[in-house]
Amino acid sequence: MISREGLSLDPVATFIEPRHREFRERVVAFCREEIGDGGDAGDGRAAGGSDSRGRRDPDSDAAARVRARELLGLMGSAGLFEPIRDGDVRGCLVAREVLAWWSPLADAVFALQGLSATPALVAGRDPGGWAARAVAGEAMGAFAMTEREAGSDVASMTTRAVRDGDGYVLDGAKSFISNAGVADFHVVFAATDPEAGTRGISCFVVPADADGFEFAGAQVMSAPHPLGELRFEGCRVKADAMLGDEGAGFKTGMATLDRLRPTVAAGACGMAGRALWEAVRHARRREQFGRTLSSFQLVQEKLAVSATELTAGRLLAYRAGWEKDRGAERITMEAAMAKSFATEAAQRIVDRAVQVLGGRGVVADHPVDRLYRAVRALRIYEGTTEIQHLIIGGGLVRDSGQ
Ligand SMILES: Cc1cc2nc3c(=O)[nH]c(=O)nc-3n(C[C@H](O)[C@H](O)[C@H](O)COP(=O)(O)OP(=O)(O)OC[C@H]3O[C@@H](n4cnc5c(N)ncnc54)[C@H](O)[C@@H]3O)c2cc1C
Repeated sequence: MISREGLSLDPVATFIEPRHREFRERVVAFCREEIGDGGDAGDGRAAGGSDSRGRRDPDSDAAARVRARELLGLMGSAGLFEPIRDGDVRGCLVAREVLAWWSPLADAVFALQGLSATPALVAGRDPGGWAARAVAGEAMGAFAMTEREAGSDVASMTTRAVRDGDGYVLDGAKSFISNAGVADFHVVFAATDPEAGTRGISCFVVPADADGFEFAGAQVMSAPHPLGELRFEGCRVKADAMLGDEGAGFKTGMATLDRLRPTVAAGACGMAGRALWEAVRHARRREQFGRTLSSFQLVQEKLAVSATELTAGRLLAYRAGWEKDRGAERITMEAAMAKSFATEAAQRIVDRAVQVLGGRGVVADHPVDRLYRAVRALRIYEGTTEIQHLIIGGGLVRDSGQ
């Protein structure tokens, strides 16, 4: 199920097509060529790496931004964004599992191209051709929904878009936006009718050079990941920059997240799989009390529980992708189950790997230490675990027919 180059697709064979196996080989070949030999943390090569004495690069956020742009072009040239273009959710799962194994930063680059291009696919129109350029790897996108005072409670957003002549004028600010400061275009959610709650939110494409738009500063994460704040002050966009109808922005955003939450699960599984592989490798080599760690049953138990949780997370993710790819209009419950279970399990799996590695597992820039920092955010972004549980619980109560 697990090898030096990533997770096998055999455990999820029921849910995939032959093309997914071929695509996996392409992604692995890309990672081998462009990211590293699979023996270290991947993106340490150029972003957020350490010096010869193991110290964290103090400039890692800047390095991550440069490396993210570089990866975008390389991934685009290699055709890695094709599943996003084709709406092939399982292809996206394959890409994220492999990329996250080799480089959480490359995984984030893929995720953000999906988040920024998919609203246009959902809405059925691509203002400015940005989504097409995004899936070609020619433009970097961002998805700007969250605000300082509006996180889980999206409907409380205060960014406004007011109709003015042949366009709209946006005022407000967004926070915790991936690719802020490096993106070429932004899918921005703003209230066109503040009294109407989620039905009053609309969605606009805002290029980075739009008048009244600015990058308001970086929010430096503990793992390499471009993140920051955006500001809109009298930012004017043409009416045809709107994705979907006025007031349909929330629906477009949620339909986008439906498709992408299973891919967050896949990213989590890629990171967890890598951590498990590192733990098994270490346990087989390291000797204490005259025996390898892997011969201790307490260590084996950690590995066994991790392998089981990892497989369960992958099955939930591929099952959700399979449902979408075979024509389900929405997969809200399946996506919420996959995201919440796999990201929580991945956190436990990476933590167990640190424990098996002992002190080595917390040395900065050991692959497992890097994964420990990278995996945490997945339980938060694109809807926290608690919000996924509200979705699942609410759906269960509503639809149980009693
Ligand atoms: C690395 C990273 C990248 C991100 N990228 C993007 C991006 O590209 N675009 C974007 O728009 N956003 C992005 N976000 C923002 C992310 O979506 C939000 O952080 C997330 O939705 C949670 O919002 P919040 O941080 O304001 O937390 P809050 O909403 O304040 O929640 C704090 C805690 O309270 C819990 N909580 C809230 N409401 C309830 C409730 N009703 N019941 C039970 N518990 C509740 C939450 O689950 C959480 O545990 C990113 C975040 C991170 C960390």
